[in-house]
Amino acid sequence: MTDELFREDARLASCSARVIAVDATGIRLDRTVFYPHGGGQAGDAGALTLGDGRQVPIIDTRKGASPGEIVHVPAPQADLSGLQVGSEVVAAIDWDRRHRHMRFHTATHLLCALIPHPVDGCSITAAYARLDFHMTEPLDKDALNAGLARLVAEAHPVTHRWITEDELDANPGLVRSMSVQPPRGQGRVRVMAIEGVDLQPCGGTHVASTAEIGPITVTKIEKKSAKTRRVVLGFAEPAAGGG
Ligand SMILES: [Zn+2]
Repeated sequence: MTDELFREDARLASCSARVIAVDATGIRLDRTVFYPHGGGQAGDAGALTLGDGRQVPIIDTRKGASPGEIVHVPAPQADLSGLQVGSEVVAAIDWDRRHRHMRFHTATHLLCALIPHPVDGCSITAAYARLDFHMTEPLDKDALNAGLARLVAEAHPVTHRWITEDELDANPGLVRSMSVQPPRGQGRVRVMAIEGVDLQPCGGTHVASTAEIGPITVTKIEKKSAKTRRVVLGFAEPAAGGG
Protein backbone atom coordinates (compact mmCIF):
# COMPACT_ATOMS: atom_id res chain seq x y z
CA MET A 1 0.00 0.00 0.00
CA THR A 2 1.12 3.51 -0.80
CA ASP A 3 0.61 6.43 1.57
CA GLU A 4 -1.48 8.84 -0.54
CA LEU A 5 -0.10 12.21 0.57
CA PHE A 6 -2.14 14.11 -2.06
CA ARG A 7 -5.40 13.15 -0.30
CA GLU A 8 -4.59 15.26 2.76
CA ASP A 9 -2.49 17.98 1.11
CA ALA A 10 -3.07 18.68 -2.59
CA ARG A 11 -0.36 21.37 -2.49
CA LEU A 12 2.51 18.98 -1.73
CA ALA A 13 4.63 19.04 -4.90
CA SER A 14 7.33 16.62 -3.77
CA CYS A 15 8.19 14.03 -1.12
CA SER A 16 10.91 11.55 -0.33
CA ALA A 17 9.86 7.94 -0.83
CA ARG A 18 11.15 4.40 -1.02
CA VAL A 19 10.67 2.07 -3.99
CA ILE A 20 8.51 -0.94 -3.07
CA ALA A 21 8.27 -2.53 -6.55
CA VAL A 22 9.47 -1.99 -10.11
CA ASP A 23 8.19 -3.88 -13.14
CA ALA A 24 7.30 -3.40 -16.79
CA THR A 25 4.16 -1.42 -15.91
CA GLY A 26 5.92 1.07 -13.66
CA ILE A 27 7.21 1.98 -10.22
CA ARG A 28 5.42 1.63 -6.86
CA LEU A 29 6.48 3.79 -3.90
CA ASP A 30 5.75 3.56 -0.17
CA ARG A 31 4.35 7.13 -0.29
CA THR A 32 3.65 9.57 -3.09
CA VAL A 33 2.41 13.00 -4.13
CA PHE A 34 1.43 11.64 -7.59
CA TYR A 35 -2.35 11.51 -8.10
CA PRO A 36 -3.37 8.41 -10.10
CA HIS A 37 -5.85 8.85 -12.96
CA GLY A 38 -9.32 8.55 -11.46
CA GLY A 39 -12.64 10.27 -10.94
CA GLY A 40 -12.12 11.86 -14.34
CA GLN A 41 -8.93 13.64 -13.26
CA ALA A 42 -5.79 12.93 -15.29
CA GLY A 43 -2.85 11.21 -13.58
CA ASP A 44 0.15 13.30 -12.59
CA ALA A 45 3.42 13.59 -14.49
CA GLY A 46 6.80 14.57 -13.05
CA ALA A 47 10.04 12.84 -12.13
CA LEU A 48 11.68 10.55 -9.61
CA THR A 49 15.17 11.70 -8.61
CA LEU A 50 17.62 9.05 -7.42
CA GLY A 51 20.25 9.50 -4.73
CA ASP A 52 22.95 10.00 -7.38
CA GLY A 53 20.96 12.78 -9.06
CA ARG A 54 19.72 10.74 -12.01
CA GLN A 55 16.11 11.41 -12.94
CA VAL A 56 13.42 9.05 -14.15
CA PRO A 57 10.74 11.03 -16.02
CA ILE A 58 7.19 9.97 -15.10
CA ILE A 59 4.64 10.56 -17.87
CA ASP A 60 1.48 9.30 -16.14
CA THR A 61 0.18 7.83 -12.89
CA ARG A 62 -2.34 5.01 -12.84
CA LYS A 63 -4.16 2.84 -10.35
CA GLY A 64 -2.81 -0.72 -10.22
CA ALA A 65 -4.76 -3.97 -10.21
CA SER A 66 -5.13 -4.17 -6.43
CA PRO A 67 -6.88 -1.57 -4.26
CA GLY A 68 -4.61 1.28 -3.18
CA GLU A 69 -1.93 0.41 -5.71
CA ILE A 70 -0.42 3.46 -7.46
CA VAL A 71 1.75 2.95 -10.54
CA HIS A 72 4.19 5.67 -11.62
CA VAL A 73 4.53 5.18 -15.38
CA PRO A 74 8.04 6.03 -16.64
CA ALA A 75 8.81 7.54 -20.05
CA PRO A 76 9.30 4.74 -22.62
CA GLN A 77 13.08 5.20 -22.92
CA ALA A 78 13.70 5.86 -19.22
CA ASP A 79 16.69 4.14 -17.58
CA LEU A 80 15.30 2.23 -14.58
CA SER A 81 18.60 0.54 -13.68
CA GLY A 82 19.07 2.78 -10.63
CA LEU A 83 15.71 1.80 -9.14
CA GLN A 84 15.68 -1.23 -6.86
CA VAL A 85 13.28 -2.21 -4.10
CA GLY A 86 14.35 -0.08 -1.14
CA SER A 87 15.92 2.70 -3.24
CA GLU A 88 15.28 6.18 -1.87
CA VAL A 89 13.94 8.73 -4.35
CA VAL A 90 12.48 12.21 -4.35
CA ALA A 91 9.11 12.11 -6.12
CA ALA A 92 8.18 15.49 -7.61
CA ILE A 93 5.14 16.28 -9.72
CA ASP A 94 4.90 18.75 -12.60
CA TRP A 95 3.24 21.34 -10.38
CA ASP A 96 2.05 23.73 -13.12
CA ARG A 97 0.24 20.87 -14.84
CA ARG A 98 -1.28 19.61 -11.57
CA HIS A 99 -2.36 23.09 -10.52
CA ARG A 100 -4.32 23.36 -13.76
CA HIS A 101 -5.98 20.00 -12.91
CA MET A 102 -6.84 21.38 -9.46
CA ARG A 103 -8.30 24.61 -10.86
CA PHE A 104 -10.36 22.79 -13.48
CA HIS A 105 -11.42 20.09 -11.03
CA THR A 106 -12.70 22.64 -8.52
CA ALA A 107 -14.51 24.44 -11.35
CA THR A 108 -16.36 21.22 -12.23
CA HIS A 109 -17.82 21.30 -8.69
CA LEU A 110 -19.08 24.83 -9.41
CA LEU A 111 -20.76 23.51 -12.55
CA CYS A 112 -22.43 20.80 -10.44
CA ALA A 113 -23.87 23.58 -8.28
CA LEU A 114 -25.04 25.60 -11.30
CA ILE A 115 -26.51 22.61 -13.16
CA PRO A 116 -28.57 20.49 -10.74
CA HIS A 117 -28.63 17.31 -12.81
CA PRO A 118 -26.76 14.00 -12.40
CA VAL A 119 -23.28 13.83 -13.92
CA ASP A 120 -22.62 10.80 -16.11
CA GLY A 121 -19.13 11.55 -17.39
CA CYS A 122 -16.17 13.69 -16.49
CA SER A 123 -12.70 14.40 -17.86
CA ILE A 124 -10.20 16.81 -16.30
CA THR A 125 -6.91 17.57 -18.06
CA ALA A 126 -4.44 20.46 -18.03
CA ALA A 127 -5.98 21.88 -21.22
CA TYR A 128 -9.72 21.58 -20.55
CA ALA A 129 -12.35 19.98 -18.38
CA ARG A 130 -15.60 18.50 -19.56
CA LEU A 131 -18.63 17.32 -17.68
CA ASP A 132 -21.59 15.38 -19.09
CA PHE A 133 -24.94 16.04 -17.47
CA HIS A 134 -27.87 13.67 -17.72
CA MET A 135 -30.55 16.14 -18.81
CA THR A 136 -32.72 17.12 -21.76
CA GLU A 137 -33.13 20.87 -21.20
CA PRO A 138 -30.94 23.27 -23.16
CA LEU A 139 -28.18 25.14 -21.28
CA ASP A 140 -27.47 28.87 -21.48
CA LYS A 141 -23.75 29.53 -21.96
CA ASP A 142 -23.92 33.19 -20.90
CA ALA A 143 -25.81 32.31 -17.71
CA LEU A 144 -23.28 29.61 -16.86
CA ASN A 145 -20.36 31.96 -17.47
CA ALA A 146 -21.94 34.61 -15.27
CA GLY A 147 -22.52 32.00 -12.54
CA LEU A 148 -18.94 30.74 -12.72
CA ALA A 149 -17.54 34.29 -12.61
CA ARG A 150 -19.66 35.07 -9.56
CA LEU A 151 -18.66 31.92 -7.66
CA VAL A 152 -14.96 32.49 -8.43
CA ALA A 153 -15.17 36.14 -7.36
CA GLU A 154 -16.92 35.16 -4.11
CA ALA A 155 -13.79 33.20 -3.03
CA HIS A 156 -15.58 30.32 -1.29
CA PRO A 157 -13.25 28.15 0.85
CA VAL A 158 -12.77 24.58 -0.41
CA THR A 159 -12.23 21.93 2.27
CA HIS A 160 -12.42 18.18 2.68
CA ARG A 161 -13.20 15.81 5.50
CA TRP A 162 -13.65 12.09 5.93
CA ILE A 163 -17.07 10.79 6.95
CA THR A 164 -17.75 7.23 8.08
CA GLU A 165 -20.62 5.28 6.58
CA ASP A 166 -22.19 5.15 10.06
CA GLU A 167 -22.26 8.97 10.09
CA LEU A 168 -23.79 9.01 6.60
CA ASP A 169 -26.46 6.52 7.71
CA ALA A 170 -27.23 8.71 10.72
CA ASN A 171 -27.50 11.88 8.60
CA PRO A 172 -29.90 11.34 5.69
CA GLY A 173 -30.16 15.13 5.34
CA LEU A 174 -26.41 15.34 4.73
CA VAL A 175 -26.61 12.63 2.08
CA ARG A 176 -29.60 14.37 0.45
CA SER A 177 -27.68 17.65 0.30
CA MET A 178 -24.85 16.08 -1.72
CA SER A 179 -24.89 16.75 -5.45
CA VAL A 180 -23.42 13.27 -6.04
CA GLN A 181 -24.36 10.27 -3.90
CA PRO A 182 -21.57 8.76 -1.81
CA PRO A 183 -20.17 5.32 -2.71
CA ARG A 184 -20.67 2.57 -0.12
CA GLY A 185 -18.57 -0.32 1.01
CA GLN A 186 -15.27 1.44 1.76
CA GLY A 187 -15.98 2.28 5.41
CA ARG A 188 -15.37 5.99 5.02
CA VAL A 189 -15.94 8.58 2.32
CA ARG A 190 -13.93 11.68 1.49
CA VAL A 191 -16.32 14.61 1.16
CA MET A 192 -15.40 17.90 -0.53
CA ALA A 193 -17.21 21.04 0.55
CA ILE A 194 -17.23 24.34 -1.28
CA GLU A 195 -18.74 26.38 1.51
CA GLY A 196 -22.30 27.40 0.67
CA VAL A 197 -22.01 26.08 -2.88
CA ASP A 198 -21.45 22.34 -3.28
CA LEU A 199 -20.99 19.20 -1.21
CA GLN A 200 -20.06 15.86 -2.74
CA PRO A 201 -17.90 12.79 -2.25
CA CYS A 202 -14.68 13.22 -4.22
CA GLY A 203 -11.16 11.83 -4.05
CA GLY A 204 -9.54 14.33 -6.42
CA THR A 205 -7.28 17.32 -5.86
CA HIS A 206 -8.72 20.83 -5.51
CA VAL A 207 -7.59 24.41 -4.94
CA ALA A 208 -8.11 26.01 -1.50
CA SER A 209 -10.55 28.71 -2.57
CA THR A 210 -12.77 29.23 -5.61
CA ALA A 211 -10.81 32.47 -6.23
CA GLU A 212 -7.76 30.35 -7.00
CA ILE A 213 -9.56 28.90 -10.05
CA GLY A 214 -9.04 32.25 -11.79
CA PRO A 215 -10.74 33.34 -15.01
CA ILE A 216 -12.60 30.38 -16.50
CA THR A 217 -15.23 30.09 -19.23
CA VAL A 218 -17.56 27.60 -20.82
CA THR A 219 -15.96 27.11 -24.23
CA LYS A 220 -18.56 24.72 -25.62
CA ILE A 221 -21.94 23.18 -24.85
CA GLU A 222 -22.76 20.06 -26.86
CA LYS A 223 -25.82 17.86 -27.10
CA LYS A 224 -24.01 14.52 -26.81
CA SER A 225 -27.21 12.49 -26.98
CA ALA A 226 -30.93 12.97 -26.45
CA LYS A 227 -30.34 12.88 -22.68
CA THR A 228 -26.79 14.19 -22.31
CA ARG A 229 -25.50 17.76 -22.38
CA ARG A 230 -21.71 18.16 -22.40
CA VAL A 231 -20.14 21.32 -20.94
CA VAL A 232 -16.50 22.09 -21.77
CA LEU A 233 -14.45 24.51 -19.65
CA GLY A 234 -11.29 26.41 -20.59
CA PHE A 235 -9.12 29.00 -18.88
CA ALA A 236 -9.87 32.50 -20.05
CA GLU A 237 -6.20 33.49 -19.78
CA PRO A 238 -2.94 31.51 -19.86
CA ALA A 239 -2.32 30.08 -16.40
CA ALA A 240 0.15 32.14 -14.44
CA GLY A 241 1.29 28.95 -12.74
CA GLY A 242 1.22 28.81 -9.03
CA GLY A 243 3.14 27.53 -6.16
ZN1 LIG B 1 -13.59 16.96 -6.74
